[in-house]
Amino acid sequence: MLTVFGSTALDTIRTPSKTLKNVLGGAATFAGISASFFVNTGLIAVVGSDFPKKYYNLLGKYLDLRGLSIKKGKTFHYDGSYDKTLSTRQTLKTELNVLRSFKPTVPEEYRRSQFVYLANNDPDQNVSLIKEFDKVKFSMCDTIEFWISTKRNSVIKMIKSVDAVVINDEEAKLLTKEFNLIKCAKKMMSWGTKYVIIKKGEHGSLMFFDDLIFPSAGFSLEDVIDPTGAGDSFAGAMIGYLASKNSTNFSAIKKGVVYGNVLGSFAVEKYGLDGLLQLKTLDIKKRVKRYEKMIRF
Ligand code: AMP
Repeated sequence: MLTVFGSTALDTIRTPSKTLKNVLGGAATFAGISASFFVNTGLIAVVGSDFPKKYYNLLGKYLDLRGLSIKKGKTFHYDGSYDKTLSTRQTLKTELNVLRSFKPTVPEEYRRSQFVYLANNDPDQNVSLIKEFDKVKFSMCDTIEFWISTKRNSVIKMIKSVDAVVINDEEAKLLTKEFNLIKCAKKMMSWGTKYVIIKKGEHGSLMFFDDLIFPSAGFSLEDVIDPTGAGDSFAGAMIGYLASKNSTNFSAIKKGVVYGNVLGSFAVEKYGLDGLLQLKTLDIKKRVKRYEKMIRF
């Protein structure tokens, strides 16, 4: 089993073609649903009393919700706006609401999870939660500019406590205060994590382990609609694939990265979560085959 912990949100997403208001989002939502195509996935998250029942039911179709708490107050709200290139997003609001004082606990049924993904979330909460699992084989975390700017030391502590970090290129630079991505990865590895995966949006990703680097291309798309959640979908697919194989060898991790690229590409083709929600396992298989053809030489 895989456990995913992180934000479950009501998002406002402004793209050049459409504004979505208060739609279901959150890093753990995208990551958990993406992972659920590979393995049974339990969610640990908090929402407020304003969280619509239809979203609760939707989450329940994909995820084990025994770890989802409903607290008095408002759900975490993120508001972001893309420019016309769809590659730059400006954060307009990050309202933590019920997430601010959340004291997460791991339900008894999740404690033996061997794979744990700490999606974008308060790094202090992430660090305290990972200690509650009985026998973690592979843990991975992500972070975002908001946490790097407000809790950098806690982010570094979080990186120490996991096996892998998956992070955007710009955030890797901001966090490590380096400009070269190899230097960024080396610095994060010197803090204690074994693997670093730096996402480069439509340009794919770089995975680092010891002295090895595995670069992988993004799945080339002509029409991108809404990039929200692409990175979370990438991470969910990657760790979901590993959990499904119960493997953490380097070759499996490389394949996981490929599944990450592929699921990320589905996420950006539709608004909000629709790219994932309309997906069938066969679509994933077909796209992985096309991806293999594209990169073979
Ligand atoms: P991505 O596009 O992969 O960066 O992920 C976007 C998702 O992350 C949105 O659905 C947001 O709800 C969520 N998110 C944005 N900022 C934060 C934050 N500071 N902490 C946790 N989740 C966040």
